[in-house]
Amino acid sequence: MTKRRHAEIAGAGFAGLAAAAALCQRGWTVRVHEVNPEPRAFGAGIFIWDNGLRVLNAIGAYADVRNGAFAAPAYETRTDGKCLSFQPINGPGQYRLLTMPRQHLYAAMLKAAVGSGAEIVTSSEAVGATPEGELLLASGARLPADIVIGADGVRSKVRDSLEIPQERRKYRDGIIRVLTDRTGLRGGEWDHVIDFWAHSPRTLRILYTPSGENDLYMAMMAPVADTESSAIPINPAPWIACFPQLEPALSRLGDKGRYDVYETTKLDHWSVGRVAIVGDSAHAMPPTLAQGAGCAIGNALGLACALDECDTVEAALALWERRERPLTDHTQRRAAEIAAQRILASGMKWDDEGLRAARHVPTGADMPFADAA
Ligand SMILES: Cc1cc2nc3c(=O)[nH]c(=O)nc-3n(C[C@H](O)[C@H](O)[C@H](O)COP(=O)(O)OP(=O)(O)OC[C@H]3O[C@@H](n4cnc5c(N)ncnc54)[C@H](O)[C@@H]3O)c2cc1C
Repeated sequence: MTKRRHAEIAGAGFAGLAAAAALCQRGWTVRVHEVNPEPRAFGAGIFIWDNGLRVLNAIGAYADVRNGAFAAPAYETRTDGKCLSFQPINGPGQYRLLTMPRQHLYAAMLKAAVGSGAEIVTSSEAVGATPEGELLLASGARLPADIVIGADGVRSKVRDSLEIPQERRKYRDGIIRVLTDRTGLRGGEWDHVIDFWAHSPRTLRILYTPSGENDLYMAMMAPVADTESSAIPINPAPWIACFPQLEPALSRLGDKGRYDVYETTKLDHWSVGRVAIVGDSAHAMPPTLAQGAGCAIGNALGLACALDECDTVEAALALWERRERPLTDHTQRRAAEIAAQRILASGMKWDDEGLRAARHVPTGADMPFADAA
């Protein structure tokens, strides 16, 4: 009997959990190290386009995600009070886009990974990896594996220990993410995703997102230089001045929310020896296309598929990057342009190449949906 191949993964985020589930389902033993004392999602809500939903379907998390996520009937952009784009979504032949609290997505993915046999070790900090295939922990442990996966997010220690040449960029805008309830904002147009922009008295944006029966996610974009609007705890006054129609939600945010500045990380190569860098650690992108997690989980599944197809880890990593990287690079580039020029203020372009990722069928994810008739 051949010995089962073993993976050590740094980071139990969306990328780490998708890789863990997909590898276990292909016969690997997998251990995931999470620096936090409990595995959980950070941030408020999330958009998952069709490509990401297909990956969730492939790893067995889709039914749990679908149950409780929100399928808005339309996506609108309203700038300075005018509707600049209106797109029906989630109907037959239309784009599929589910919105949900991050913890809802996370719980389903954690269940899929653990249910497939992955071991999750909490309070376990990765500090690096060796090209020969060892994961190095803060405890001093050196854990050998057939493959090590650095899925430890935008500030990845695994990536940085390998000294992979990288470009990093920050932008002039950032987003406060906050989850509240839908009281007073329900039914009719309030069931749409609405991208509200204002240019007067200052430039602000609220991506208004129903995210479940009771949950409302608001992604509130403010320039870094606007210290009043980007403040945490949220200062409701400048926001209500720009978006008085959202006053019922804005006035009850209390001390909720966190502000993250848009950033991009681009690596020269996604792997070194037996170490693969997956998700935000490899390709963080501004959230303007809502594809960071979609690309992260697609690339995690693609990695497991490549490892299944090739005789050696080195050959698999080369195939993986060749196959998956062009779409991620394209998406990251387009997300960066949109962020730098605030292109969404003139309306979401649904025929735009920026939606190429949403239309993509990820490697290993071409099966019918679990809820298909
Ligand atoms: C404002 C904003 C909005 C966004 N909206 C969307 C959206 O709507 N749709 C979408 O698809 N994407 C969105 N994204 C992008 C998405 O959040 C990321 O692409 C996604 O979370 C990346 O997943 P990951 O697993 O690579 O990284 P992370 O989610 O950051 O997970 C990394 C994990 O590793 C752990 N970790 C970190 N360091 C260590 C260590 N040294 N040792 C062990 N564990 C460690 C962390 O605690 C965490 O659990 C958004 C991003 C931002 C900033």
